[in-house]
Order: sequence, then C-alpha cells, then structure tokens
Amino acid sequence: MTLHSPFHDDNCIFCKIAAGKIPSRKVYEDDDIFVFDDINPWAPVHFLMIPKAHIPSMAQVGSEHAALLGRMMTLAPKLALEKGCKPYPEGGYRIVTNTGAEGGQEVHHLHIHVMGGPRPWLKG
Ligand code: AMP
Ligand code: ZN
Repeated sequence: MTLHSPFHDDNCIFCKIAAGKIPSRKVYEDDDIFVFDDINPWAPVHFLMIPKAHIPSMAQVGSEHAALLGRMMTLAPKLALEKGCKPYPEGGYRIVTNTGAEGGQEVHHLHIHVMGGPRPWLKG
C-alpha cells in the first residue's frame, strides 16, 4: 500500500500503526489485516483488529468488504485464545465495534476490540 493510495489516510493514527510508522505491540499481520494490543486496556486481554485499508467505520462498510470482515471475525476467536483467553464457555471474550460519536468511536479507522481474561475488568 502506498502513501497515495485512496485506501490510506495520512492523518490517521491506525493507518500509521498498520504501516509501522507508529510503534505498536503487534499481535498478527497479513496482507489485509493488522492486529495490535490496545494502549489503554480495559481487560487483561485487549487487542484491536483493523483492516489495513482506511475504512472510517462500520457506517462505510459495503458488500465489497464482506470477505474482509468475515476473515476478521473468524480470526478473532483464534487470536483471543492465543492471547490467553480461556476457552468457551467458562472463558470467552467480548467483541465490540464502536461506530460514530454516539457509538463511542474515538478513532475513525474501523477497528474491532477483542477483550477477555479474568474479571473484574477496568471497564465493560
Ligand atoms: P474507540 O473508542 O472504539 O475508537 O477505540 C479506540 C481505541 O484505540 C481505544 O481503546 C484506545 O485505547 C486505542 N488506541 C488509541 N491510540 C492507540 C495506540 N497508539 N496504540 C494502541 N491503541 C491505541
Ligand atoms: Zn486509517
């Protein structure tokens, strides 16, 4: 992906993380998806899954993104276990995508929060 790609926003912090321009604790990466630990975790396990392409939120998702989002959702359980979440049903995790101001979204690059680990959690 080049800096001039329409799928990249030069001012977006998560585009910079996906491109390695801002450091992060990487959990997983492939051609389309980047996963890293949340810098301000709410739970013992808290990582963020992002598409490398700059999609601002779920509000911009279309049928062309179905395969990408499907891959992200099917990857989440695998990574949650790798990060130390206990298996279902005793363990588990929470998957959240905040969308828009009233949805609590602060960073406008689509991301899936995956949170888990022993309770109590800081939030949620
Ligand atoms: P949201 O409120 O759903 O937009 O969530 C944004 C999340 O991004 C928050 O949980 C932040 O802690 C996290 N975050 C912001 N900046 C960074 C960063 N540089 N590295 C890792 N996580 C970050
Ligand atoms: Zn972005």
